[in-house]
Amino acid sequence: MINLYKKVMPGSTIGIIGGGQLGRMMAIAARAMGYKIAVLDPTPNSPCGQLADIEITAPYHDLDSIKKLANISDVITYEFENIDHQALKWLYENTYLPQGTELLRITQDRETEKNSINELGIKVAPFAIVNTKAELDQAVEKIGTPCIIKTCRGGYDGKGQQVVRIHEDKVAAYDLLTTGKCIVEGWVSFEKELSVIIARNPSGETKTLPLAENIHKDNILHQTIVPARVDAQVAEKAKSVAKVIADGLGLIGTLAVEMFLVNDEIYVNELAPRPHNSGHYSIEGCVTSQFEQHIRAVCNLPLGDTTLLTPTVMVNLLGEHLEPTLEQYEFLGKGKVHLYGKEEAKLKRKMGHITFLGEDVEEILSDLSQLTIWNEKAEVKQ
Ligand code: AMP
Repeated sequence: MINLYKKVMPGSTIGIIGGGQLGRMMAIAARAMGYKIAVLDPTPNSPCGQLADIEITAPYHDLDSIKKLANISDVITYEFENIDHQALKWLYENTYLPQGTELLRITQDRETEKNSINELGIKVAPFAIVNTKAELDQAVEKIGTPCIIKTCRGGYDGKGQQVVRIHEDKVAAYDLLTTGKCIVEGWVSFEKELSVIIARNPSGETKTLPLAENIHKDNILHQTIVPARVDAQVAEKAKSVAKVIADGLGLIGTLAVEMFLVNDEIYVNELAPRPHNSGHYSIEGCVTSQFEQHIRAVCNLPLGDTTLLTPTVMVNLLGEHLEPTLEQYEFLGKGKVHLYGKEEAKLKRKMGHITFLGEDVEEILSDLSQLTIWNEKAEVKQ
């Protein structure tokens, strides 16, 4: 086990576990900084694999392939949190994984995540952990409706969740128990959803990106608006909540803190120990993007300036959004288009995003509201 943090200098190879769009955008930033990239992903020609110097195609838990990745990499990082625990333990004990295993362990499970946030004195929605139908019934009774039931492990983009308003919803939620324990959360009537992306390097230096305001559609992030339309005290509070969590949980790398704003109070909903969709705006919007910052943090370089250059709105492109009409191209052309190189455009699948820069977020949003690409009834055009 290597205990000492080292500086990983340009020219070295960064090994990334996971070849999706987050790995791809990490790789783009890292290559611009002079690093080489190796990636492990089960699918050949993955979004990150397309840009990597070395692509290893194997399941994430395949120890031989993990060892291969370790042999060619000077530092290992990851782009998603559901990494097999044994594989991660091996990596921590035998290679250079500055992010460690603890934060990942905590955030892999909503129970440990919520408890850790609570222990730091930060508010979360009232919750109960349930393993059986009877426990679920009791928790719904105690917490009241509406409430939301989520699997403790493995869910994303609203998968593995059920909002409970009426009895039938509760019965539908029983199915979630087949995959393991669940969390029953009280409904938070939030005014806004916000997120802070914070990076921390091994020396303990932290930098937050400007506060982001997030609009979800069908539980999937649709738009990120920066600066968030909240007053300065709320923005400061949100950033200090992220810093308490980053320091308290010993973050190294990047942490996305998703929050609800209720009467000027911040409730933390979820943590992601990696760059996050709600930080994509920073590629064009900030002096240093979340991806460059992540590379700086895991390579133990000084963190970059995160000043917002201009008001920015990021909009996701899902499978059903890929064919705008000709008239829309003119406006869309004003944005910075990112496509992730995914072969198949499935319904609700994140295929890319567009970032719009402007003088004022209200102006950008008003222009965007003229477009039908995001309003049309969702379907994937064949
Ligand atoms: P999550 O997977 O926990 O990020 O939840 C996905 C989305 O569901 C969030 O972005 C919210 O819009 C909504 N949501 C989740 N939990 C709650 C809650 N306790 N109260 C209200 N809305 C919620």
